[in-house]
Amino acid sequence: MLIHLTEIFASDTGKAHLKEKLDLGTVVVDGVTYPFLEPVEIEAVLKRVGPEKMLAEGKVRTSLEIPCGRCMKPVAYRLESDFSKALYLEEASAEGVEDDYEEDIVGHHLNLENFALHEIFMNFPMKVLCGEDCKGICNHCGADLNETDCQCGQEAIDPRLSGLKDLLNSKFKEV
Ligand SMILES: [Zn+2]
Ligand SMILES: [Zn+2]
Repeated sequence: MLIHLTEIFASDTGKAHLKEKLDLGTVVVDGVTYPFLEPVEIEAVLKRVGPEKMLAEGKVRTSLEIPCGRCMKPVAYRLESDFSKALYLEEASAEGVEDDYEEDIVGHHLNLENFALHEIFMNFPMKVLCGEDCKGICNHCGADLNETDCQCGQEAIDPRLSGLKDLLNSKFKEV
């Protein structure tokens, strides 16, 4: 969706409020594809703040499916971010200004999808856990330790005594 910036800029108020839901499907971060669980909601006020300069202030909201960093189970992650960004109508004005959003402006239009994706990239979580106490996956047998106790850890602790333990256990059962 392209937002006509010059039109807003040249209007009486020099201001526009927009609220859109964007169906972006998936987002690719560092070569990994993550599906969106709902449309990306973007709400913003665009306003004229100087010669050929506009300000975009608002919020991006969505939720994505991200695997747990320990057990890989899919987690519904809620992403919300507030932004306040300067937009320059003329490329010349943007020279020397550090602005990641330059590429989001095509001619005098703002590409809303790109803008929203930009916000999502910048606020993408480093690591997501299904729960603070997630036990993860056993490195040896791959068992999900949240659901089952594998034997790998116990054998590693006392491999020579395990035979004796079995013997003791069977003795106790006989009594
Ligand atoms: Zn987990
Ligand atoms: Zn194991």
